[in-house]
Amino acid sequence: MKVFLYLLHFPVYTLGPGTRVGLWLQGCTRHCPGCAAPETWDFPPEKAVPLEDLVQRILSFSCGPRRPDGLTISGGEPFDQPEALGELLRRLRGQAAVSDVLVYTGYRSDVLLERHPEFFADPPLVAALVDGAFEKGNVTDSAWKGSENQNLTIWKKEFSPRYEEWAKRAARGLQKVRSGDTWLLLGIPRQEDVARLKNPYGPV
Ligand code: SF4
Repeated sequence: MKVFLYLLHFPVYTLGPGTRVGLWLQGCTRHCPGCAAPETWDFPPEKAVPLEDLVQRILSFSCGPRRPDGLTISGGEPFDQPEALGELLRRLRGQAAVSDVLVYTGYRSDVLLERHPEFFADPPLVAALVDGAFEKGNVTDSAWKGSENQNLTIWKKEFSPRYEEWAKRAARGLQKVRSGDTWLLLGIPRQEDVARLKNPYGPV
């Protein structure tokens, strides 16, 4: 099985509680107006990688001096590859370092529950979701989401205190990392900053 991959990075501090592995899946059919990452919309064949390789790369982070204490999956739209996403999470199940999986999705959790109940059966494959379509203009002061309508839903109750604390106290921040010959900003910018970040020398 293959999975469309945009980026894998560790450590990530700006998307979820703790020090996490960040996984951005390539491809999104939703095309929200104002999306900060339209470069992740396509599904180009060269971005498809063997799922087993991705599993091994994620697990390899646990062998280093600094161990992850969670995995955040974003995109793109992770649930536009439901088979690959499900298989990835099943392969990672039981690995303590990534038992806390947070997924950012543009689909509402009630829609996902109906379409993909296997992710939420007991025990669930995800610890928490930040769900709902990104809405341009619906600004938010919450650092963990892009628009006010989005929700945090917690599926693994043992992680409730961790996520409730994070949702209350998370500070907005962007982490600058190098990927090949490109610099990337990891995190959730304020809506009003997106255009400026894409073109820092353009008109305000
Ligand atoms: S779901 Fe996410 S990646 Fe897809 S268009 Fe909306 S904001 Fe962008």
